[in-house]
Amino acid sequence: MEMQYLQGVGPKRAMLLSKELGLNSIEDLLRFFPTRYIDRSTITPIAEIVPEAAFVQVRAKVISREIKPKRLSVIVEDSTGRMELVFFRGIKWASEKLSPGSEFIFFGKPAAFNGKVNMVHPEIDPPNSDTSGVMTGVYPSTEKIKNAGITGKVMNKIMAAALEAGLPSIQETLPDYVLKSKSLVPIHFALRNIHFPQSADALLKARRRLKFEELFLLQLSLLKQKFVRMRSVKGIEMPKVGPSFNACYNALPYKLTGAQQRVIKEIREDMRSGRQMNRLLQGDVGSGKTMVAVLSALIASGNGFQSCIMAPTEVLARQHWRNISKYLLPTGVKCAVLTGTTKASERREIHAGLEDGSIGIIVGTHALIEDDVKFKNLGLAIIDEQHRFGVDQRAKLWNKRNDGLLPHVLVMTATPIPRTLAMTLYGDLDVSVIDEMPPGRTPVQTLHCYESKRASVYKFMREQIALGRQIFVVYPLIFESEKMDYKNLEAGAEQIMNAFPVPQYKTAVVHGQMKAEDKNFNMDAFVAGRADILVATSVIEVGVDVPNATVMIIESAERFGLAQLHQLRGRVGRGSNQSYCILMTDFKLSSESKRRIELMCSTDNGFTLAEEDMKLRGPGDMDGTAQSGLPVELSIASLAKDGMLLSEARDFAMRILERDPQLSAPANDLLFKTLNSGRYAIKDYSVIS
Ligand code: ADP
Ligand code: MG
Repeated sequence: MEMQYLQGVGPKRAMLLSKELGLNSIEDLLRFFPTRYIDRSTITPIAEIVPEAAFVQVRAKVISREIKPKRLSVIVEDSTGRMELVFFRGIKWASEKLSPGSEFIFFGKPAAFNGKVNMVHPEIDPPNSDTSGVMTGVYPSTEKIKNAGITGKVMNKIMAAALEAGLPSIQETLPDYVLKSKSLVPIHFALRNIHFPQSADALLKARRRLKFEELFLLQLSLLKQKFVRMRSVKGIEMPKVGPSFNACYNALPYKLTGAQQRVIKEIREDMRSGRQMNRLLQGDVGSGKTMVAVLSALIASGNGFQSCIMAPTEVLARQHWRNISKYLLPTGVKCAVLTGTTKASERREIHAGLEDGSIGIIVGTHALIEDDVKFKNLGLAIIDEQHRFGVDQRAKLWNKRNDGLLPHVLVMTATPIPRTLAMTLYGDLDVSVIDEMPPGRTPVQTLHCYESKRASVYKFMREQIALGRQIFVVYPLIFESEKMDYKNLEAGAEQIMNAFPVPQYKTAVVHGQMKAEDKNFNMDAFVAGRADILVATSVIEVGVDVPNATVMIIESAERFGLAQLHQLRGRVGRGSNQSYCILMTDFKLSSESKRRIELMCSTDNGFTLAEEDMKLRGPGDMDGTAQSGLPVELSIASLAKDGMLLSEARDFAMRILERDPQLSAPANDLLFKTLNSGRYAIKDYSVIS
């Protein structure tokens, strides 16, 4: 049966449900779950209503009603007090229904207005309606849905009709042995009770079953791809370590941290295994990922293969190249840098060097994936700051060999991803973590200052400059309005230059609207210590390594996400001097911004922050960009809260696949069917090769 034929739906609403909520069938409806439940067994006395409450139900008598411009105001009263009900729509209907003296049960979300509590568009029920012991599901909705008259109550009615019409044809998705060994309730029980819980206990069981199902099928699908790929894709075997690796290693000015050593060992194992490496390397800013990249590239070169290292920006690419070239001095391996601004003559030379194999390691930006860049023998691709590269762009890299073999892939990210998210996003990737900082670092001190403290912040900056230190001042960049951001930065830069006048102080300014040459020139001035202050927008220059910089001032810090704040803070504290991060904000802060700032001041552990960030913002928004979507949208499980269940589901999926990687055994027939039913088809987001 089509959704539109359900009682209470009809063609118009069906279209709206499809457009607004993506619900196209009765089964979609049944798998559209309440986000919470309201216990309608309690009646709240008016005097006890707080505007923060999600929903309340009052039993009250109408005292008066008055049609004001554009709205109807109704005053109701119970034995404890009075409150106002407001209607902007259905004014005629409501004023007829709510005649003074009559009593009703009103149900809705309280709000504060002029210091008093009111309720807008409450649901209205007869005073004697039996609502005892009922838990009512509340579904996600939109303005358009509400305007079409699909209130919470109507949605509940539609769901009841959907259950009656659709449940009999819903098939169980999990085999019996899965249900038994995980103590899960059958699908019919789960769907009935998720929409209309018989009891709190039944609801718990229903939720557990549906969450497990969701996480389990997702993991099964991701891991199955991984198993298949491990069999079908042949990797390049790199059995040796080679003399260049050893030459570099022995000349290192410091000892590798335990974490760096462990990760290099993991990478080395991958590269000699004969399977293609697909590894995500996570490490906080400053944890020493560059060194790991260099040593990995040297393994490739020791086996006769070239490597490429891709960075998201020109500045970063050049900085990488400078650093890497230093490490490579004792090895004789030739390293070049290729970006959008590389001159034509130089570009030709580099192209030739890559084709004849004389360049062993190439560092660069997107320019590396252009079609005219050809390698003699590319064996390893390293991608730094992975979240800036689109899937398509990565795919282009894999076409750089013409023998069907895929180069090994190492994706490095400084954005710590919570374990649960990594498992979901990169279910088929191996994950390495550098969880140890190089020794000798003093943790960065983080402070929150309101605008009113600007003078003392400037005083502090002068003191630091007098000590010979350098300072970053960063302005937020918001994509909607680059012009305005630029203005923001320009005004800020002017303010700084007034407070820190030449010739005593030197300030370099860098922003996105600048010509690349000017940008490089100003950046170089700061990196080389010729400028005391660098004023910049946030996006461009992340990643620069200036150990002498000890102060990071983040302007309008409330406009940054936690992950970004943490990234920026990582630009200081790279040397042995005490470093500071100062978060400047407006006096008015939302509670969420306040929480972010507090968290920043309380910890410098990137993983703790990432977990908190996920709780604050939801996992879909981790990078703060739309492109970081999940491979599937979870409809009931939460990555922030269901980490344990996710691990359990993953282990279970793994065990099944180890025995039956194709899910071809009769016992897994149902799983095979479920996975191929379309409902669980996942976007191939996580597969990076
Ligand atoms: P990341 O890329 O992870 O942010 P980098 O690779 O840029 O970090 O390293 C940050 C700084 O730490 C660099 O100056 C680097 O030379 C230094 N470094 C890396 N590994 C070590 C180590 N084991 N001991 C001391 N210093 C290190
Ligand atoms: Mg780095």
